Amino acid sequence: MSIKSVNPANGQVVKIYKTHTDEQVADRIKQTHDAWLKWRKSDSSLRANLLRKLAEVLNKRKSELAELMAVEMGKPVKQGASEIEKCATVCEYYADNAAKFLKEQLIETEAQKSYVTFNPLGVVLAVMPWNFPFWQVFRFLAPALAAGNCGVLKHASNVPGCALVIEDMVREAGFPDNVFQTLLAVNTQVDAIIENEHIKAVTLTGSTNAGIKVAQKAGSVLKKSVLELGGSDAYIILEDADLELAASTCTDSRLINSGQSCIAAKRFIVVESVADKFTALMLKKMESKRVGDPLKQETEVGPQARVDLRNELHEQVQKSVAAGAKCILGGTVPEGENAFYPPTILTNVKKGMPAYDEELFGPVAAIIVAKDEAEAIDIANDSVFGLGGAIFTQDVKRGEHLAANNLEAGSCFVNSLVKSDPRLPFGGIKQSGYGRELGMFGIHEFVNIKTVYIK
Ligand code: NAP
Repeated sequence: MSIKSVNPANGQVVKIYKTHTDEQVADRIKQTHDAWLKWRKSDSSLRANLLRKLAEVLNKRKSELAELMAVEMGKPVKQGASEIEKCATVCEYYADNAAKFLKEQLIETEAQKSYVTFNPLGVVLAVMPWNFPFWQVFRFLAPALAAGNCGVLKHASNVPGCALVIEDMVREAGFPDNVFQTLLAVNTQVDAIIENEHIKAVTLTGSTNAGIKVAQKAGSVLKKSVLELGGSDAYIILEDADLELAASTCTDSRLINSGQSCIAAKRFIVVESVADKFTALMLKKMESKRVGDPLKQETEVGPQARVDLRNELHEQVQKSVAAGAKCILGGTVPEGENAFYPPTILTNVKKGMPAYDEELFGPVAAIIVAKDEAEAIDIANDSVFGLGGAIFTQDVKRGEHLAANNLEAGSCFVNSLVKSDPRLPFGGIKQSGYGRELGMFGIHEFVNIKTVYIK
């Protein structure tokens, strides 16, 4: 079997990779398990030094990695370079903080001494998506290695080059052999990987469907899972919002990674009295974005990652329009061998349309009008997803209250776009998944939180 990497900007095959057979996959997992038997005993300062080296390698190879992403999945190189810098930051963050997060915690009881200690679990399987081919992997990998775990990666099948170069960089940074390995496997091999006796836990970032399949399998063999899944983040624009700020932030968030981000703003819920003004401002900003060759520095929106995904998105737009939505920008498939889709705006979006009910994983903004604040919150929460959300208002106290208490999502921001940050926990509720990555909460997901009691 083989995995093909195809350039979405022109449809050309970049490279064909031979997949690992089930036996090769099992051998690699065993090698990583053997590496873990030593790595689990390594000193925290050694782990920190190696993570700092890995950050250096990432920064040194930034341009090459950004180009690789552009060619394999269409990310504009400027955004690719920022993604690599962020990967370096998460390595440095856990190099600086892991020892503190993993320090024994004394708990007073009647015992002579009782405390909690954090022991590594073993080899963790990461099943990862193509949209942030480096960031998604590093936000799992940095805390995993820092905690004394090891990892194997099954990356999305359209980014095999990215998957292999990560393994290469871990080696270049000087980590012991096999503490991290890439498995060139297809998704039908994942069940057997989860069943492998040396795999102790699994983390998946991807669609809700894939998450359900992986969680079912992991549950059937009682292995812990963390799921970072899809989202349909609502951005609420209240009547007292700074509309200029709201429209530019909403546009930037909608178009991150050419619209293919789990925490991109997807539904724009605008209070009636400012709906026309907000829509006009957003239209101006969306149409001003430079769409084009992802290898050019000035490009702001590249192609979608694959033609089939672009076609699926277009179908969601067409179905929404057939159900009464109005397309005021974009909405057409460009000619030729490519996966481009233009920045698009749908207005008059209502419940029952794909643009209201489903995740639109591309540069399509769905504008929904609400009577007032209460109705806006109801609409925002009327979703199967619960990843992120944002509120725009000049009354910061009002925004904070709604963000902290009323929005049903894993991350709620006020007057800002939702973004992940190594210091802050990240994850969702409802069909956006469970568990947390990043920060202290992230490193505690894959450790044995062990109670020690001395009478
Ligand atoms: P996807 O199709 O679910 O793929 C994600 C990974 O899961 C890939 O490695 C894929 O392998 C694998 N996979 C798919 N079906 C599987 C199955 N039945 N069993 C085992 N593994 C399976 O998602 P995607 O299209 O790459 O990414 C887009 C989705 O990810 C969106 O819904 C987005 O919102 C979500 N996402 C969420 C977050 C978050 O942090 N919450 C971040 C980024 C993206 P193959 O490529 O071989 O099929």
